[in-house]
Amino acid sequence: MISAADDSQRVPLIVDIKRFSLEDGPGIRTVAFFKGCPLRCVFCQNPETQNIFVEARFSQRRCIRCGACQTACVRGAISFPWFRLFRRRRNEALCAFCGQCEAACPRSATKIVGNRYSIEELSTLLLKDASFFSNSGGGITLSGGECLLFLDYVSALLKNLKINNVHTLIQTAGLFCFEDFAEKVLPHVDMIYFDIKFVDDVLHKKFTHVSNQVILGNFGKLAAAAPGKLQARIPLIPGITATKENLRAITALLHRHNINSVSLLPYNPGGIEKSIELGRPSPKITKRFMTPNELLTAKMYRNEPPHAVTRQITN
Ligand code: SF4
Ligand code: SF4
Repeated sequence: MISAADDSQRVPLIVDIKRFSLEDGPGIRTVAFFKGCPLRCVFCQNPETQNIFVEARFSQRRCIRCGACQTACVRGAISFPWFRLFRRRRNEALCAFCGQCEAACPRSATKIVGNRYSIEELSTLLLKDASFFSNSGGGITLSGGECLLFLDYVSALLKNLKINNVHTLIQTAGLFCFEDFAEKVLPHVDMIYFDIKFVDDVLHKKFTHVSNQVILGNFGKLAAAAPGKLQARIPLIPGITATKENLRAITALLHRHNINSVSLLPYNPGGIEKSIELGRPSPKITKRFMTPNELLTAKMYRNEPPHAVTRQITN
């Protein structure tokens, strides 16, 4: 593993490697979650993948104030006011993100988020379950965050994976340079899951903090260049994206581009606690899952049958 303290942004940080996933593409898959995203969606389920830098998570709920992390930290970055009567503090300026506190914690309350791997190291980890891929029609998914922030790395990684004859899929929020993507990534990827959140740019800016002009342009270019590889994904956020107006506008957009392959991703509020554990303010968004009624209504707005497949939102 390459040191997380390496400043080079050419080698991305990987937040997590999920094995035996049934939700991130066809068959059984291994998923690599890249760290770094140009969007800042208020409803993000994986806020630990937004920031491109290594971060620390701490769960106050899990911590029993045993002090093991403080003992393990040779840099003196961890302290407990009043003999552990109050919550743990970590001094960001002293912390080297070495992970010793994480290794010492008996409650998994503290975690360093982000590891760097060479392409060979990551390929080896992702290919561990290759025999399950061939038997299930599965493969490897690159997700995030936005894996396409790292076009050269992803291109080389995909080439390596294709040498091993595995199915490859990328999940993207759509904000990338299309010409570079078409040259470096498109030839080596079998499927692309492309998130469409809003058609209205004012709403897009309000809830993701970036314009959707490049995103929708890229969707159109991809629909023309490789329609068979493209599947649209619509995150359903109650009262935000899962509105009649937005779902009907997205449906019309997909019709215009002749894209019929779509999946709906029902909202999961798991990102709220993660944001708090990362030391960020609690996002102002609903803390509950979607009700079956809300899901049915969203399908109705999309003109989908009630039994149409949906998956949990992943980014
Ligand atoms: S990551 Fe390392 S330096 Fe930072 S608080 Fe934990 S043990 Fe200390
Ligand atoms: S080692 Fe874990 S449980 Fe113990 S004080 Fe540190 S964070 Fe809390």
